Amino acid sequence: MFINGQWREAASNTHFTSSNPATGEAIDQIPAGGAEDAVAAIDAAHAAFPAWSGRSAYERSAILYKAYTLMVERKDELAKLMTTEQGKPLRAATNETQYAADFLLWYAEEAKRVYGETIPSARGDQRFIIFKAPVGVVAAVTPWNYPISMLTRKLAPALAAGCTVVLKPAEATPLCAIAVFKILQEAGVPDGVINLVTAEDPKPIGEVFTTDERVRKITFTGSTAVGKMLAGKAGENLKRISMELGGHAPFIVYDDADPTHAAKGASLVKFLNSGQACISPNRMFMHESGMDAFVGELTSRVERLRAGNGLEQGVGIGPLVNEAAVAKVERQVEDAKAKGARVMCGGHRLMDNGLDKGNFYAATVLADVTPDMLIYREETFGPVAAVVPFKDGDDVLAMANDTTYGLAAYVYTNNMAKAMRTVEGLDFAIIGVNDINPTSAAAPFGGMKSSGLGREGGHEGIEEYLESKTAGFSI
Ligand code: ADP
Repeated sequence: MFINGQWREAASNTHFTSSNPATGEAIDQIPAGGAEDAVAAIDAAHAAFPAWSGRSAYERSAILYKAYTLMVERKDELAKLMTTEQGKPLRAATNETQYAADFLLWYAEEAKRVYGETIPSARGDQRFIIFKAPVGVVAAVTPWNYPISMLTRKLAPALAAGCTVVLKPAEATPLCAIAVFKILQEAGVPDGVINLVTAEDPKPIGEVFTTDERVRKITFTGSTAVGKMLAGKAGENLKRISMELGGHAPFIVYDDADPTHAAKGASLVKFLNSGQACISPNRMFMHESGMDAFVGELTSRVERLRAGNGLEQGVGIGPLVNEAAVAKVERQVEDAKAKGARVMCGGHRLMDNGLDKGNFYAATVLADVTPDMLIYREETFGPVAAVVPFKDGDDVLAMANDTTYGLAAYVYTNNMAKAMRTVEGLDFAIIGVNDINPTSAAAPFGGMKSSGLGREGGHEGIEEYLESKTAGFSI
C-alpha cells in the first residue's frame, strides 16, 4: 500500500493473492488493508491538501504531464502486467494503457483552464466573482475490468483540480494500481497527495470512505448495487458523488444500414474485454430484413475468435474475471436456450487445451432473443451477443429504452434524420452512430438512470472535483 509517500504493509500485516485469470496461477501477495489503513490514508491526504491545493495549476500540470510521458514510455510493460492480472489480450491492454495515459495528458492541459467567472450585479456598488476551489479529500473506488484507465480517469482530474486522493482498487487487480501509483510517485506527486489502500474485503474501507467527515467526495466505478449503497451512505453524510455504474447497451441496426458492416462493428465491440465492459452491447436489435446477413457475418467472425492466455499471439479473447462471472453467463445462456433462443455458436464453457484452469466461456451468438429472457434485462458482462429481431411497426426506440440502465447505445443507419431522431430519443448518455468507440479522454463519459451520476473525462470531468465559491464585493 502507498500511504503518505511510503510503500508499506497493512496494519494487520495480512495479505491476499493476486492471480492470473487465464491460468489460475498466483502472481503476488498483496497487503490486505482494512479500516485502520483507510483512516491513515485519509490522515495523509487531509494533511497534504493545503500545500497541494496551494500549488499553482502550472506546477500540478507539469507533474501530470511527466506521469503521462512515463506511462507512454512504459506502455508495453504495463500492458503485459495488465494481461497477466486481468486477462485481456495484449493488444487490448496496450490500447487501454494508452487510453489511461490520455487522461493524464488531457488533465495536465485542463489543470490550466479552471476558469472562474465574473457576473454583473443588480447593485451598482457590487461585483460578483466566482472562484473555483478543489473539493478537498477524494475517496476513489475502482473496478477490475479497466484496471489502469479507470484510475487515471479519476486521479488525473482530481490532482489537476488540486484535490488529494485515497484510492481503493478492485481486489482482482491491485498490481495494476500499484504500477500506476509508482508512475505518479516518480513523476513527482508529493507525499500524502495520493494514497493507495489495497484490500481483499472492500466493505470496511467503503464504510470509512463514506463516513469520515474529512472525505468530501466519493468517486466510484463498479456495479449498480454497490454504487447505490455507497451513494446512499455518502448522501447521508452529504458528500459529493460521481457514480459510473452498470449498463445494458442497445445496438440498433435499421433496415437501411448494411447488416454486414454492422455485424463487423458488433463483433468488435461486443467481445472487447470478453464483454466485461459497462458499455458492451447487451441487446442487438436487428431489423428482420437484414437478420440472416447480420447473424451470419457475426457468427462467422465470432467463431474465428481464439480464446486463451492474452499473452499468446493470435488470442482474440481472454478469460472472465472469476468463476462467478462464468456461472452468471452460463445461467443467462441456459435461460435463453430454454426460452427459445438459438445458439449460433459457443454456448458453453471452454475446458480443453488447459483452459479449464482459467475462467473461460466460449464466445457466443444467440439469435431470437426475446424480452422474457434474463439476458434481455440483466447486464451480462461476458462474451455473449444477444440478437433481438424487430420489424416495421415495432417501436425499437421504446424497446431500447426499456431498461433501468442508461449508459451506452449504438445505432447503425445511413439516414441522417433517423440517426438524429434516434440519438435524441435514446435515454442513454454515450451514443455511437455507425461508430463502435464513442469514448475518448476528451469527451464526457457517464450514465443516465441506474447507470450513474456525474461525468468523467472531457472538460466536464474536472468540474466533479471543484466547488464554486461566489464572492460578492461591495465597492
Ligand atoms: P463487480 O461485481 O463488477 O466486481 P463491484 O461493484 O463489486 O463490481 O466492484 C467494484 C469496486 O467496488 C471494487 O473495487 C470493489 O472492491 C468495490 N466494492 C465492492 N463492495 C464494496 C463495498 N461494500 N464498499 C466499498 N467498495 C466496494
